[in-house]
Amino acid sequence: MAPDPPRRADPLHRAGSPRPDASAPAGERAVDTGPIEVRRSTRRRRTVSAYREGDRTIVLIPARMTVEEESRWVATMLDKLAAQEERRRRPRADLEERAARLSERYLGGRARPVAVRWVGNQNTRWGSCTPATGTIRLSHRLRDMPEYVLDYVLLHELAHLLVPGHGPDFWALLEAYPRTERARGFLEGVVAAERLRGTDEGEPTPG
Ligand SMILES: [Zn+2]
Repeated sequence: MAPDPPRRADPLHRAGSPRPDASAPAGERAVDTGPIEVRRSTRRRRTVSAYREGDRTIVLIPARMTVEEESRWVATMLDKLAAQEERRRRPRADLEERAARLSERYLGGRARPVAVRWVGNQNTRWGSCTPATGTIRLSHRLRDMPEYVLDYVLLHELAHLLVPGHGPDFWALLEAYPRTERARGFLEGVVAAERLRGTDEGEPTPG
């Protein structure tokens, strides 16, 4: 039997990608990436970055990287770009559906926000709620966090539509959500990491 012909023309497989597309479950790689161009830069020491330029993907890597490292980083950056793009596509309606699901599941459907939206200028808070208008705003920073964290902040704000303060009545509403403590720990970790990096802009808390 003749051996399989060598793979060519796909830069991802030039050095034998550690994560070939075939290993991904069907449908996971929804975005069909166009040509990939790797640019090596002597000015770069450690950082790798990637961006789209039309249908091309440009990956910038340090000049000293080995072919294996390049292959690994290209795969990593493609995944990262795809995840970022997926998050940007999440429309506002998706947030409102998510809020409705959470309200139904954990609050007996009693919290009914009029609007739920992402906001970009909310560095000191993960979320806020205006019960008078039924509006919930979530920091766009939550888009980069695990879903259970986004759900926790959203549920927190939904609960404020029913109970304004942070008394026992309020926390009793959140008891049904199994990952409250874990999500709070995650957010505390983010704040602590920012403080270590000196980028602290205040104490972000769900409002
Ligand atoms: Zn609160």
